[in-house]
Amino acid sequence: MVKKNRNLITGGSGFLGSHLSKRLLEKGEEVICLDNFFTGTKKNIQDLIKHQNFEIIRHDITEPIQLEVDKIWHLACPASPIHYQLNPIKTAKTSFMGTYNMLGLAKRTSAKFLLASTSEVYGDPEEHPQKESYRGSVNTIGVRSCYDEGKRISETLCADYQRVHGVDIRIMRIFNTYGPNMRFDDGRVISNFIVQALKGNKISIYGDGSQTRSFCYVDDLINGMILLMDSNYINPVNIGNPNEFSIIELANIVKELINPNLDFQYKKLPKDDPKQRKPSIQLAKHLLNWEPKVELRNGLIKTINWFKKNM
Ligand code: NAD
Ligand code: UDP
Repeated sequence: MVKKNRNLITGGSGFLGSHLSKRLLEKGEEVICLDNFFTGTKKNIQDLIKHQNFEIIRHDITEPIQLEVDKIWHLACPASPIHYQLNPIKTAKTSFMGTYNMLGLAKRTSAKFLLASTSEVYGDPEEHPQKESYRGSVNTIGVRSCYDEGKRISETLCADYQRVHGVDIRIMRIFNTYGPNMRFDDGRVISNFIVQALKGNKISIYGDGSQTRSFCYVDDLINGMILLMDSNYINPVNIGNPNEFSIIELANIVKELINPNLDFQYKKLPKDDPKQRKPSIQLAKHLLNWEPKVELRNGLIKTINWFKKNM
């Protein structure tokens, strides 16, 4: 029998995990989706369930688990501010205990291990754009800290498992990503704006909307993720789209694509909301020969069409 690549995807039923699962199955590989369904949904993976190379395990990664796998794609962690702040202690526990348990599994099975880290490790950055060498400006005791510091300790655990036990790690710093399979109630900006606009509601702008983000379409992101896993590079790599937009600019594009008559509703800026964010992707370009291809407008059209069909 031909040996298949056995992939464990923690958080496999979430937004990014469901896309990664699909792509690895298309490559003929085996996928074990491990999830506690906190923010993930079975709907995201309903088309994959019948696939002979796909398995689902309901499990919370704060508890250890014994499996035999070749690669671990460690994505499990709520990613939207409203979700990770709902139970911040659990978010910190998922980041620390969850990553510790999954690294233990990688050590025992000699599996390659990729951590889905985040641009949030840079906090509210004073360096712009953010390079991997920037050490960040994170509030250790703020409302976002459970996630930001959680991801920073996850990176630290990875680096120590590499140094102490030789685990073959990858650290991917993901910048804001969007696309089909985001929850309608996800709370992140693109899904919020699309859902509001499709319902004919006002678009909620937090603060004055001058803060910036750089949005990557999910297909580009998954390409980068697979290239990084296949590389031999053990230090952090930014993966994101460097085209930067203010939140007002984003709102205007969504408005124009869905309903030009919509109004904005200004709301209080959440605490510690980073003022600017844009990845430097020089390292990913050089190392992986990767760069994003999907322009914001085109990615939004695909995402809007998906929301229209699935809402
Ligand atoms: P998501 O919330 O859609 O997916 C997270 C998944 O992890 C969900 O399926 C959830 O049920 C699962 N999960 C959470 N806690 C768990 C636990 N204790 N045990 C088992 N499963 C658990 O988020 P996403 O956007 O798909 O993000 C995936 C990963 O990528 C996260 O680690 C996130 O921090 C990282 N990331 C995402 C973005 C982005 O823009 N999407 C940006 C930066 C980093
Ligand atoms: N945001 C907004 N309206 C919304 C949701 C978010 O103006 O309905 C803003 C939010 O304040 C932040 C940016 O959009 O400045 C991105 O927010 P998101 O929650 O998507 O991601 P993150 O802050 O984690 O980058």
